[in-house]
Amino acid sequence: MADRTVDHLLIGGGVAAATCAQALREEGATGSVLLVGRELDPPYHRPPITKGYLAGTEARADAAIALPGDVEVLTRTSVMALDPAARTVTLSTKETVGYDTALLATGAMVRRLQVDGTQLDGIHYLRALGNADALRRDVEGAERVVCVGGSYIGCETAATLTTLGKRCTVVLLEEQPLERGFGLQVGAWVRGVLEAHGVEVVTGAEVERFEGDGDRVQRVVLAGGRTLDAEVVVAGVGVNPDVMVARKAGLEIGPAGGVRADAQLRAAGAEGLYVAGDIAEYDSPVHGRVVRVEHEEVAAAHGRTAARNMLGAGADHVEVPYFWSDLADWASFEYVGPAHGWDDERVEGDVSSGAFTVWYVRDGKVAGMLSAGGHGDVERAKALVASGGAPPSGG
Ligand SMILES: Cc1cc2nc3c(=O)[nH]c(=O)nc-3n(C[C@H](O)[C@H](O)[C@H](O)COP(=O)(O)OP(=O)(O)OC[C@H]3O[C@@H](n4cnc5c(N)ncnc54)[C@H](O)[C@@H]3O)c2cc1C
Repeated sequence: MADRTVDHLLIGGGVAAATCAQALREEGATGSVLLVGRELDPPYHRPPITKGYLAGTEARADAAIALPGDVEVLTRTSVMALDPAARTVTLSTKETVGYDTALLATGAMVRRLQVDGTQLDGIHYLRALGNADALRRDVEGAERVVCVGGSYIGCETAATLTTLGKRCTVVLLEEQPLERGFGLQVGAWVRGVLEAHGVEVVTGAEVERFEGDGDRVQRVVLAGGRTLDAEVVVAGVGVNPDVMVARKAGLEIGPAGGVRADAQLRAAGAEGLYVAGDIAEYDSPVHGRVVRVEHEEVAAAHGRTAARNMLGAGADHVEVPYFWSDLADWASFEYVGPAHGWDDERVEGDVSSGAFTVWYVRDGKVAGMLSAGGHGDVERAKALVASGGAPPSGG
């Protein structure tokens, strides 16, 4: 017998759970809603962590996600165990809570570099606001920063820290930054933007170890022997979905490491339990395959669909994933997809001007679209991805 029972239990204090809480009330839910998150802060947006919050132009309050006043929020509290059959959880406070419906939205954890020297001071990972606070403090007296990883975190952080007067180097395994998601053309553009603002970009490079004199990092040593001076290192080398609670509960884990869910975001084999955000590996009717995406708007959209279904709507999740990124105020782009492989890239506009569109085409159909500098029509691209349409002529 649980200590208490709520109508809707939201596990995880990120944007997916927070948006679900908002949507439950917007959809007319009158029952009790309890959101349990293990962080110090109530739910907030993570994108500012590499952008405005890191730059000091946005405050903590700007990142906060407003919740309806009648949603109960427990911070610094973990769900330690979930029993899907009994529909109960056990909290780190030892309290047991029963639920009618629940959302599992435990997000992701940063992947850690597995090389010598990672114990040295001055090596940072960015996931929570507190990580950005620590990085800001650490770069204050520093001149040289090395960002490891050529994806969003590495590129955005290098751009932001450059605007704070730091000399930044981005080190990546690939031939171009962001190449894995958007191809070599867009990657070359991103590299050009970074270099034009003084960021050094070292491609095809693997970090072999970190070295320091004493406790603090001073050098990044690359395979092949090249050495980069670094007073501060930021590693952005991907995340792993946080499926600890799900795994312990016996939920099905998918090939992409997330929690398997059907098109309505229902966890496989667990009555009343929904999955959202970075951990959700769901049957996407839009893509005709299983999809897991690690983006803010996608997590929010999952939260909305899950809320409706927790109230009995029985709706498939049909929103086309959307994502954006900013490199300081130097460049911005939006993306619709994810393409997951393509055989053709069609460009509209002039890549060198920073205002252009790339259509990612597979078998003659739009699989994704990237719009830089506000050039493209994102809503049209979403419709084409959803309908499996051909790219517009000229595209
Ligand atoms: C630095 C950074 C910058 C980003 N920038 C962008 C961007 O520009 N554009 C974009 O689209 N996306 C961006 N993202 C990605 C986006 O933030 C994530 O996709 C989004 O936060 C996922 O939301 P979520 O709710 O699934 O998970 P999370 O935001 O990770 O939230 C999950 C929460 O659950 C908590 N939790 C985990 N286990 C438990 C438990 N057992 N009990 C209680 N609580 C638990 C975690 O502590 C965490 O607070 C960025 C991410 C980071 C880290």
